[in-house]
Amino acid sequence: MIMLCQKCGAVAVISNFNGTFCADHFKENFEKIVLETIEKYGMIEEGERIAVANSGGKDSLSLLYILSKYFGDKNDIVSITIDEGIHGYRDKTIGTMKKYCEMWGVDYVVYSYKDFAGLGMDDIVKKESGIPCASCGVLRRHLINAGAIEQRADKLLTAHNMDDEAESVLMNIFQKDYEKLLRSGPISGIEAKEGFVPRVKPFIFVSEKETMLFSILNGIDALHTPCPYSGFGFRGVLAKVVKQLESDVPGSKKKIIDASIFVKNAHSGDRVVSARAKLLNCSECGSPSSRTVCEACAIKSRVSGQISKG
Ligand code: SF4
Ligand SMILES: [Zn+2]
Ligand SMILES: [Zn+2]
Repeated sequence: MIMLCQKCGAVAVISNFNGTFCADHFKENFEKIVLETIEKYGMIEEGERIAVANSGGKDSLSLLYILSKYFGDKNDIVSITIDEGIHGYRDKTIGTMKKYCEMWGVDYVVYSYKDFAGLGMDDIVKKESGIPCASCGVLRRHLINAGAIEQRADKLLTAHNMDDEAESVLMNIFQKDYEKLLRSGPISGIEAKEGFVPRVKPFIFVSEKETMLFSILNGIDALHTPCPYSGFGFRGVLAKVVKQLESDVPGSKKKIIDASIFVKNAHSGDRVVSARAKLLNCSECGSPSSRTVCEACAIKSRVSGQISKG
């Protein structure tokens, strides 16, 4: 059955809970949702210097495209890429990232695990126990925040989409990490504490599939190269659950996210959230940390063969 665009009657390219649209009206509606999210949550103020976490994949390039289109003349934009040191994966996407930053006139910087810890992920996985994503996630969060500070950014924008966020909410519930649950949402991180750049997610209300389509319709040629270490652990299980749930009950991902935002708002003044105030500063790098040595510096000490003080 041919579906028709709800706005103009042309042949539709997508039909989901956000509507049924032809290519042009889908792009228009996608940008509208993202711009409304930015506006509603005060994600970008005029004159702010904004850093965009840019993996060189379809999600972050689509975000950078919209930002350079609508905010390029009002805000300084810098693209930050983290090079995990994963052969055949990140080396390819860094080339794509550079191509589009140059095309759209956006400054870019790259920070690497090798420069920080002396080793890239391909060597770290041989030294660290546990699933690769655990240490990789700690190092990435650390480097991206440190990079945003070095770049004097007021906000750090990430292209986390609705699928990513719904998985994270469920992950925090299953791991009983309620503090992290209350720090998630459209504006995450520890906003008030010096040493953290507020992280915001303009794509939180668009899905992975919509973002993929948006990138294709805008001619963004980002190869989907999966990380060889992905799919391990519980997040891989939850990713499948979330996709199945959305297929059985359309709108499920948004309901999960709406529920988490409601809970976050209802607990905004609580003890769990105010635990932020008790943070120390890492004795190695100075970053805010709940321990004397932050997790990233502890990994660095372990993989480089030095004894962690933490
Ligand atoms: S999938 Fe895991 S190991 Fe690969 S880049 Fe992502 S967090 Fe790192
Ligand atoms: Zn149309
Ligand atoms: Zn540290």
